Amino acid sequence: QPISAPPELTIFRSKLPDIPLPNHLPLHTYCFEHLPECRDLPCLIISNSGKTYTYAETHLLCRKAACGLSKLGIAKGDRVMVLLQNSAEYVFAFMGASMLGAVTTAANPFLTSAEILKQFKSSGAKLIITHAAYVDKIRNFEGMTAIVTVDEPPEGCLHFSHILENDGKFEEVEIGSEDPVAMPYSSGTTGLPKGVVLTHKSLVSSVAQQVDGEDPNLYVKRDDVLLCVLPLFHIFSLNSVLLCALRAGAAVFIMPKFEINTMLAGIEKHRVTIAAVVPPLVLAMAKSPEVEKYDLGSIRIVLSGAAPLGKELQEALRNRLPQAVFGQGYGMTEAGPVLSMCPAFAKNPTPAKSGSCGTVVRNAELKVIDPETGFSLGRNQPGEICIRGPQIMKGYLNDPEATATTIDIEGWLHTGDIGFVDDDDEVFIVDRVKELIKFKGFQVPPAELESLLINHPSITDAAVVPQIDEAAGEVPVAFVVRTNDSDITEEAIKEYISKQVVFYKRLHKVYFIHAIPKSPTGKILRKDLRAKLAAASAAV
Ligand code: AMP
Repeated sequence: QPISAPPELTIFRSKLPDIPLPNHLPLHTYCFEHLPECRDLPCLIISNSGKTYTYAETHLLCRKAACGLSKLGIAKGDRVMVLLQNSAEYVFAFMGASMLGAVTTAANPFLTSAEILKQFKSSGAKLIITHAAYVDKIRNFEGMTAIVTVDEPPEGCLHFSHILENDGKFEEVEIGSEDPVAMPYSSGTTGLPKGVVLTHKSLVSSVAQQVDGEDPNLYVKRDDVLLCVLPLFHIFSLNSVLLCALRAGAAVFIMPKFEINTMLAGIEKHRVTIAAVVPPLVLAMAKSPEVEKYDLGSIRIVLSGAAPLGKELQEALRNRLPQAVFGQGYGMTEAGPVLSMCPAFAKNPTPAKSGSCGTVVRNAELKVIDPETGFSLGRNQPGEICIRGPQIMKGYLNDPEATATTIDIEGWLHTGDIGFVDDDDEVFIVDRVKELIKFKGFQVPPAELESLLINHPSITDAAVVPQIDEAAGEVPVAFVVRTNDSDITEEAIKEYISKQVVFYKRLHKVYFIHAIPKSPTGKILRKDLRAKLAAASAAV
């Protein structure tokens, strides 16, 4: 018998009224809906070539990509893997696939061959679009029907320009709002990376929540120029930069990689108005003396997301760009990804509080629950953030169990983040209960490193946890139990891992211990290990 009834459910909503969401439309139709008014406006500005594509040109090239992909056998439901740096071809490939009802699964091109293979196999992709430099990593994948490169193709590969050689006509298929369109990979709250099924409805809803409607303070307007330096293979950049810009009819300044002077010169030259950044980029912009050499007066919004941003850093950049509204977005791939955004982009003209992640997006519900009891918590009480709305993922690909532990039967997506909502409806993230480690905003799933470590013959058990780091936010460190007769060194373990993983998953430290602390059910007590780390760094 419960002694007391569960507390009343407290649901937090946006300060803005809900709007009609046109989420019956396929994503490409929705994004190019205003094409007739935007035909001659700049759409994509490419930093390395200096080339600008208008909306009319971009739309036609997306159609040509759709036609070319269909000639290569891509049809509705098929998966296209994109391993590209930011580029115009990225946009044409993604939108072209969408037009065919196909699904793009993108990944970081720096992943190792084994890491790419896992996603290739799990996603069921057939075709990969990439750069010539990465072909050796993927050439021998079984089941591959074609490799397309955006630069000079190695033997046996096709040039991307080849798939654009057509009139842009293809057989139109019916695309339902529940059909998938993007499948990024994320480890979510636990375990290995999984395919996150984002439907046309999820992404249309999420973009509409950010930019649709009449409000004059909305995030993106037609005359904006958005900085696209964050990788498009991460959903933050794909959604809150590219898709939001296309929907609004704004221009996107596309940079293939981060280089501070190129970025600052590009902001000055193209009068960038919205800079979507991650905390390490905020650090670079706040601290680099190079910033003084450029006129950054065009920036009206700095939006930081993907990882927690310290108050001091936020203030340091605010001082350098006093004309800009500065705020955070809080996202999670599985949530489409935006849960909340800086309120100053919307109704509230006062600047967001430092550390605030804004208010929950429109047409969505957010609640905070006690992670132990699951009971709803009121204002100013930290607990696990949960979100519900049409923008969240459909589920994990072929993984009903992981889906059911993340989205409950009432439709709430459990984020594994600890936060609270204050008296002004602003969301603050204070901790993470899930396993995930974030290195400069990139996901490092501990389970992946732990399984590699345990595979080593000199290691009997291992656990990987985050350690706070000024430049990267967090870095992965391992606790390792050696086999009885082993004297394997920290360096040997680090090297063993770094050979098998992309640079941001490399171990920064290895601690040898006698046993990994575990709960009676065998779950690693990560909190205890994090406490050990904190105590060790306090003692230094
Ligand atoms: P991803 O799916 O790669 O976008 O990672 C999502 C996770 O990044 C979230 O669940 C949070 O743990 C973290 N995250 C994203 N945005 C923020 C933010 N503004 N503040 C704190 N953590 C964040």
